[in-house]
Amino acid sequence: MSNTEYCAFCWRNKDEVNLLIEGKEGYICDVCVSEANKIVSAELANKRKNVGDFSVHSPSKIKAFLDEYVIGQDEAKKVISVAVYNHYKRLKHEQKSGIDDVEIAKSNIIMVGETGTGKTLLAQTIARILNVPFCIADATVVTEAGYVGEDVETILTRLLQSANYDVAAAERGIVYIDEIDKIARKRDNPSITRDVSGEGVQQAMLKLLEGSIVNVPPSGGRKHPEQNLVAVNTKNILFICGGAFDGLRDIILKRLNTSSIGFKNADKQKAEYRGKNPFQFVMHHDIKEFGLIPELVGRLPVLSYLNPLDKEALMDILVAPKNSIIKQFKKLFEMENVELKVTDEALERIAELALELKLGARGLRSLMEAVVLDKMYEIPDNPEIKEVILDLESVNNQLNHEKILRLKAA
Ligand code: ADP
Repeated sequence: MSNTEYCAFCWRNKDEVNLLIEGKEGYICDVCVSEANKIVSAELANKRKNVGDFSVHSPSKIKAFLDEYVIGQDEAKKVISVAVYNHYKRLKHEQKSGIDDVEIAKSNIIMVGETGTGKTLLAQTIARILNVPFCIADATVVTEAGYVGEDVETILTRLLQSANYDVAAAERGIVYIDEIDKIARKRDNPSITRDVSGEGVQQAMLKLLEGSIVNVPPSGGRKHPEQNLVAVNTKNILFICGGAFDGLRDIILKRLNTSSIGFKNADKQKAEYRGKNPFQFVMHHDIKEFGLIPELVGRLPVLSYLNPLDKEALMDILVAPKNSIIKQFKKLFEMENVELKVTDEALERIAELALELKLGARGLRSLMEAVVLDKMYEIPDNPEIKEVILDLESVNNQLNHEKILRLKAA
């Protein structure tokens, strides 16, 4: 590079800058790259601000998108699709409406369902279609001010980060709060005096959900006096909460079994509920009974549930979603010029094992990894292998007793 080489944007020559990057027709310097980066970030943030095209996502379109990635869970999908659509509608209405217009209150959501049934996956998938900022937070990391852990405001720090610190955009965002059940009041310990993870956190959480101005530390962590805080209005932020709610089944069943009058009716009702997912009958009252304070439950008016996954659902999860586990493994083999074929019996056995070992959908991937491990090891050194057939026998051979024990312990 000679001294005559210069940045085509600012005309500084080689000696005046740290770095000149060569392009097809000329050079660009490090300073101009950094300036251009700032312009691109600002423009993208501006684009995100544009809320004009919300109506493209009708509830049925949102659900159809969810269907591509999440198996079953129709009820929860419908509820989320409508809630997100209404969220868009409210935002549009707010932009247009006058002072004396009817104010539409937002409908935060609470979802109950065993772990590994797709609550987080639903939230993550929703995030893909949204053109509003979105973040996932874990209720368990939050503690009451004064205790070790994070302030509840840090949930909004994540939202701000996802909005590239564009406060107006963050104020229209969606937040998924996982493990909301873990901050329930401990039912079996009423004498507790210092309830670190219980009611205090719920009170703090309430502050976010009820629509107020919250001062958020822009880079997370504990708030401290010297820090500049960003004021975020949570009025238009949609909150979706999820949890496994261990023990809620019993609360629901107890209510269902004792709510009928007369012996005959009770028997009839029991038959009606038999074989069904008790979560299907969940009411807000049950959530309060579980240990969430009434004020918080009141701020989560939409209640939905997820079904446990049976063998058929697990088999579907292996093959059907757009980025299913089997599709991913086929792709990995394809990269080595090998075709992977999986028989129905093999799929069935893997799903059965996930159920037997109580690994659920989350275990499907580790089971699959274990099943193909030997082949994955051999193939790179053996280019003559062109096809791998995964059948019942190979699954049983690969998943011997020790391997199963190891997976179970993991
Ligand atoms: P939860 O939040 O309910 O505990 P997750 O959504 O984290 O469960 O599920 C764990 C993993 O299991 C997901 O990443 C996904 O691979 C798989 N999974 C769970 N439920 C489903 C489902 N209904 N459809 C497709 N995959 C699922």
